[in-house]
Order: sequence, then C-alpha cells, then structure tokens
Amino acid sequence: MADNGKPSKLERIKESSRFLRGTIASQLAEPAPNLAGDDLQLLKFHGTYQQDDRDQRGGGSKTYIFMVRSRVPGGRVSAAQFLAELDLCEKYGNGTLRITDRQGFQLHGIVKGNLRDAIRGINEAKLSTIAACGDVCRNFMCCPAPINGSPVRRQMQEMADTLADHFRPRSSAYYEIWIKDGEESQKVHEVATEADDDVEPIYGKTYLPRKFKFGIALPEDNCVDIYTQDLGLMAVVEGEQIVGYNVLVGGGQGVTPAKKETFPAVGQRLTFVAPEQTVALCEAIVKVQRDHGNRSDRKFARMKYLIANWGLDRFKATVEEYFGQSLPKPHPCDITDVDDHMGWHEQGDGKLFLGINVENGRIQDEGHLRIKSAIRAILARYPVETRLTALQGMILCNLGPSAKDAINAILTDHGVPLAEDLTPARRYSIACPAFPTCGLAITESERVMPQVMDSIEAEMQQQGLGGERIAIHMTGCPNGCARPYTPDIGLVGKARGKYTLYLGGNPQGTRIGFIFEDMVPQEEIASRLSPLLSKYKSERTDGESFGDFCHRVGKEALTSAVATE
Ligand code: SF4
Repeated sequence: MADNGKPSKLERIKESSRFLRGTIASQLAEPAPNLAGDDLQLLKFHGTYQQDDRDQRGGGSKTYIFMVRSRVPGGRVSAAQFLAELDLCEKYGNGTLRITDRQGFQLHGIVKGNLRDAIRGINEAKLSTIAACGDVCRNFMCCPAPINGSPVRRQMQEMADTLADHFRPRSSAYYEIWIKDGEESQKVHEVATEADDDVEPIYGKTYLPRKFKFGIALPEDNCVDIYTQDLGLMAVVEGEQIVGYNVLVGGGQGVTPAKKETFPAVGQRLTFVAPEQTVALCEAIVKVQRDHGNRSDRKFARMKYLIANWGLDRFKATVEEYFGQSLPKPHPCDITDVDDHMGWHEQGDGKLFLGINVENGRIQDEGHLRIKSAIRAILARYPVETRLTALQGMILCNLGPSAKDAINAILTDHGVPLAEDLTPARRYSIACPAFPTCGLAITESERVMPQVMDSIEAEMQQQGLGGERIAIHMTGCPNGCARPYTPDIGLVGKARGKYTLYLGGNPQGTRIGFIFEDMVPQEEIASRLSPLLSKYKSERTDGESFGDFCHRVGKEALTSAVATE
C-alpha cells in the first residue's frame, strides 16, 4: 500500500495535459474511429469513456463507441432536460438512456464522429458532462425526494449544488474542446498561460490521485448510500432546520482481487460541522487527499487507503491543520433507514410526487415494456421537474392529484409496472452496465439481472418471503460500480457466468458484507440462497432483515445450513 514516491503514468499524463487538453481536439478532427494514447485518460475528466462493443469483437478489429455521462447534482433535471437526453440517445446513441446509480445519465454507443455533437447537445440542455468521470469530485449525490413541506431537503439540495459548483474543474479546456465553434476549438493546443493555482485553485495541475465521491443523506433515509462515498454528509435536523452535518470519510467499493491488500470500506464518522462551514471543511478534506493520497499506485489511491495507512486520528489532525480549526466529535445520530421513494407520495405542499422504478436504470422500449415511450408521453403532457434516484429510478415532481389516474394509465398502457406491483426485492435491486459496453467487465450484469431477480423472487415467494425488503446489487467485476459490498446480497462478477456471493450487508448501506461463496454459477444463485432464506425465515428475530440475520449468525452457521440441506 506504500506510496513509493514515483508518480504513476497517469500522474504524468495529467501533469503534461495542460489542464486536461492533451491532444483531444486534434484527435477529434482526425478521421480515425477512435482516439489513442494519453487522451483516452484525459477524456474521462470531460465525462466520456472510449469503449468498444464487446458483442462485436472478433476478427481483430473493434467497433469503437463512447459512453457519455452527465453530471447532475442531486439528480435534479427538468422535463426539457430529460427529453433532451432522450432525443440525444436516439440521435447519436444506441437508442437507450441509462439512469446511473449516482443520479446521472449515460448515453451509450456514440461513435466518435458524433461525440462532440452529443456533448454539445447536453450543454445546450444546460446539463454538463464535466467531471462526471476522472480524478476529480464527481457527481454530488443527494436524497432526491421532493418533500416540500419542510425546508430540509431543499437545504440539502442547495448544499449539493453549492458543492458541485465549488469543486467543478475550472480549466477552460472543456469549453474549448466541446463547446466553442468549429475551428476555434482547434486552437486549444496553445498552452494555458495562467499559473497553476489560478487555473485550478483546488485541484492543481495533477487534480486528485483518484476519483472522489460525495453524498448527502438524512439519518432516516440513506438512499444515496453515504457510507460508500469518499465523503458523506449526514444532515442533523432539529425542528425543521439542518443544524449541521455529520461527516463520514473513506468509504469506497472497488477491489482488485489480485492485490490482496485492497478492500471495500464503509466511511468512518469523522466530525460534525455547521452548515456554513461545510464547504470549507469539505475543501480541507479534499486537499488532504490531494496532497497525501497515493499517486504512485492507483490501486491504492482512494482516500480509504490514506485513512487506513494513517489511522483516523492522524487523518483528522491533518484535516484540522488544513481547516484551521479543531473538529468536534460527530453528533450521536446515525443512519437508521433507507427509502427508494417509489410510488405516489404527498410532497407536503398539496402536490404529489411519483417514483417510477426503471429496471437497472435502462430507459428503452423493449417488447411489451415501453418505458421510454411512457416517459416521453408523460413529460409531454406534464412537463414537471424530475429527479434521478441512486437506485436507478426516477421521480416525477409537483404533480396535481388529478394527474394520478392519467399517469397510472399511461404507465400501464406501456407495460410499466406500478411500484405496488413490484416486490421490495426488485425495487431495491440494481446492476452495473458490464457487457457489452464496459471494457472492464468480466461477466454479464445488467443484461442477466432481470432473470436472476426472477429466480430469486420465485424462491422468496415460495418461502413466503415475497414481501421482504432484501437489497441485491450485481456487478460484472469487482470494481463495484453498483455498490455490491454493502447490501443484503452482493453479486460480484468473478469469471464468465460466475459470481462471488456476498452476504451480511444491509439496505441501509452501513456495513460491508462477507464473502459467503465464490464462483457461483449465475443459474444457481437462487438455489444457493434457498437454504439461507429458509433458515432466515425460521430463525430471524422480530423485524430482523436478511442482511442483519446473516451478519448475526455468521458465515459458519450459514454454511452449515447449506451443508445440511
Ligand atoms: Fe464495468 Fe466492473 Fe463497473 Fe460493472 S463494476 S460497470 S463491469 S467496471
């Protein structure tokens, strides 16, 4: 885990990039179907990854495509913005739009010749892709529920917006490459003349050692999984006001199995901070990671490893130095629950909001399920604000009660199940994209998750557990993009068609599960869970969740249950 002091190749790429310019503009102007070299790393800071269609591999050539991710603080988008992203996915992408588990949008399947137009289109809709990926503070997550009867969620969203603006990269490279007209953008090779600190006062020219994730939640509603973030803020509420935030540091999901010292981690409770000091404290924490995070080995560059190396006390003392004040203990309150915000709810201002489950976040028309057309029809008739959720769903806000029947009818007519028709397990399940677009995927995730859920649901129904809230997250590799290490059940791709089965997390996302079994074939996942669910049903304590049960009885007892089956 040691930083040997020799910067990794990516550090050198960032340093010589002239604040994220590289040669992206000139490569975009060339006829090749792909970019090459260092620019592939720099592209990520602009919100796009070059990929290839893994279904089309073979014969020695690749079909190059790009994923374009929008950064949407708190997942808050207008109807016009939502419709613009749908238009862009049809005009330039593969016809599908994905809601990410970090409350953003992803366009997939964009060819290089359309990349600039796609990113410009997103900016014309007043959204952005800047810093949606890369070694920077990425999208700022925040509970999206539009509860307007109290100011609390509004204050949280304002904090997310303020932080997003504060930590946005300041380099003009993004504007020059993607937004400026025609030939003007070709001039970006001219070296920026400003001093480093003037260009990027927070990041400097090498930005952060690794990606950095933020989330803002409430104790009773950790729908954005703040324990999995590098920096989590939990609002402490008294009366109708946020009196401050508990600050959690060092969460992170990615693991590299070949490097045994890597690990998933939940955040640790660092301190409590008043609202007016929150931005300054967050900046101090980010700068500690900037200056002391591992820049020689990217496998150990997330802030969780810095905290593991130093211990929380030393980390806190260093943050205090940067912040210029001593930090108090955290407030005693902590996360107690989670809410997926699906279905119809009162906003508290006479209006209603509706949470719509989007299976694995993929908005498309396929067979009888025509959710893309349903969303278009609803937003055309009710052009209301929308929110994207961390469980890859969406919320329609500010609806009058009279809209309820009409919207339910549109959904039903398009084959979209209403929240009450879905099991809690389905509502709390998510999956990463994996094949065919993710270059790191070892096996399938999003494309097989519906079948996996069918079989798990059937098993739960058979055991009389159909109404239980069991959170199941699947990823196609151990990088953990769909946060698979903290729910009740985690399924992490290990080999083609095989998964590592994690148990013992919880839907609240406050605990890392344990490896129960490795290399479980996809088609055997439900049968492997069967004896465990049976034991849970007969031995659980009152109100105990599946994850809490697995955590309490432990791997050994669960293994015996399987052996005696
Ligand atoms: Fe790709 Fe792995 Fe992330 Fe899934 S978890 S999107 S397979 S990197």
